[in-house]
Amino acid sequence: MSRRLSLTFDNGPTPGVTEHVLAELAARAVLATFFVVGRDLERDGSRELVQRAKDAGHRIGNHTMTHSIQFGTSDDPGLPDAEITAAQVVLGDLAEDDRLFRPWGGGGVLGPNLLSPAAVDLLERDGYTLVLWNGVPRDWEDATGWVDRALADIESQDWTVLVLHDIQSGAMAQLGQFLDRVIESGVEIVQDLPDACVPIRRGKLVGSLDDLVTR
Ligand SMILES: [Zn+2]
Repeated sequence: MSRRLSLTFDNGPTPGVTEHVLAELAARAVLATFFVVGRDLERDGSRELVQRAKDAGHRIGNHTMTHSIQFGTSDDPGLPDAEITAAQVVLGDLAEDDRLFRPWGGGGVLGPNLLSPAAVDLLERDGYTLVLWNGVPRDWEDATGWVDRALADIESQDWTVLVLHDIQSGAMAQLGQFLDRVIESGVEIVQDLPDACVPIRRGKLVGSLDDLVTR
């Protein structure tokens, strides 16, 4: 089986950056998923940018309201609603029926603070799809070196869900050449997400949350 890549862009939209990302994707007829931070949608021009992404066929997901607190580090019972439900409300009709949700990893970490039992309960009760990842080339701290790390991740596994960021880091200047190298290597870029990175689908627990939930 040939290798596959699902592209995800987190922490946007960022006016001045997301337009460039959309143009590079469109130039290669590639579709991706954008995980947006709820409170950032309130910035001027942000909502229009996400609407443009949606209209182009990209999927839009919820990446928390404030991107600042890991569920496992708080015992505030209102946190799941404040971070998940509130952002979903702000997303409104930009969101997918699948209610894609990606928690804040605090630097891409899949660890025990990622979720709490209360956050998992909410995701199941309200029909969310939990989208994790298996490739984090740390584009936010290395605007050029991320390309080789991403290609190595893609080379090393059958199906990579890659986390990139449409933020003001400078990294997205490399997106075009990265995509060209991926396409030249024969890797198929798909919009679907592999079961291995989606432990909850539409509220149903279908995978393992071991080591991701603080008990
Ligand atoms: Zn993030």
